[in-house]
Amino acid sequence: MASRALVIGVGTYDDDSGIDGYPTIEASARAYGAALARDPQWGDASRFTVLEPRRARTADGVMRALHEAAAAGEGPQDTLLVVYVGHGAYWQDVPGGQVHFAVGSSRINEPWTWLSAWYVYRAIRKSKAGLKVLIADCCYSNMLPHLGPESALPGALGTRLQGTCVLTAVGGNIHNAWADACANLPGPLDTCTPFSGHLLNVLGQGMPDHSDDLTLGALRAGIDESMQECGVHHAPRMLLNDASEATALFTNHAKGRRPRTRTPTTVDEWVRELLLNGERNLGDLMSRPDLAGRVVVRLKTGDEQSRDLARRVDLRAGELLINPVDFVRYWGEIEPAMLGGG
Ligand SMILES: [Zn+2]
Repeated sequence: MASRALVIGVGTYDDDSGIDGYPTIEASARAYGAALARDPQWGDASRFTVLEPRRARTADGVMRALHEAAAAGEGPQDTLLVVYVGHGAYWQDVPGGQVHFAVGSSRINEPWTWLSAWYVYRAIRKSKAGLKVLIADCCYSNMLPHLGPESALPGALGTRLQGTCVLTAVGGNIHNAWADACANLPGPLDTCTPFSGHLLNVLGQGMPDHSDDLTLGALRAGIDESMQECGVHHAPRMLLNDASEATALFTNHAKGRRPRTRTPTTVDEWVRELLLNGERNLGDLMSRPDLAGRVVVRLKTGDEQSRDLARRVDLRAGELLINPVDFVRYWGEIEPAMLGGG
């Protein structure tokens, strides 16, 4: 195994930089390190790095560490995980428009002192690791694109584009990711940023109704549910490119796990099942074509990940519903909703 994780937390800036520092950022980076250390999937200390502030001061320091981590990936069995916690900015008047990540020496309103996401994406894509995950806890993370080939990013971007996931603190039109700690979280996570604190709480507590691995879908659903419970946070976002919701990233630490064995029966249950496990049990859903149609209609009204799922389920429906009568029952639910919804 040649999996690698790199955690970049940039919470301290020069006094005259015009950028506010937050202790929650470096606390979050340390907490990611602690979570990786106690996870059997990641536990070997040679497999993850929490970048020292000295190396996170310049784009060069961050990119060298990133290239090192990306070069370790050898094949489909390997994972490259990159976590960035810090300030994000978005400049439209640079080629293509790009999110920029702050480094320790960045200065407000001087884009050339920040690290363009373009370079980060380029380095991640060049890795031979089969699964590439970017977790971005910063403002404007809602503007980050897919890591894969549908991305708007121009240029020669390497050849291995499969199995990518971008998980961001904010989605939709929400630009601001809050850096003030969430007091509802247990210590020491109540010293982290809200998104990372909630994410790390899901890692720590696990998901009781899920299997041994904490999958991308379970992680996202867990963060979403726990942030909604707090009632004060914006919803996170997950973009997948060929990676499935069912792809494992961490170990599930939940005690007394009771993975659901019953097949979901309602639209709500199926929506959650698809968000957790992707299309893994799609055959069961397609045995009830009308229900499948209503699930797709519901997913189409959701966020980017839900709409993406709706597209994937709809594509598979054409293959799985070989009996025209079944397909008509499926389509009979979707067509009126499409006409009604415009
Ligand atoms: Zn909270």
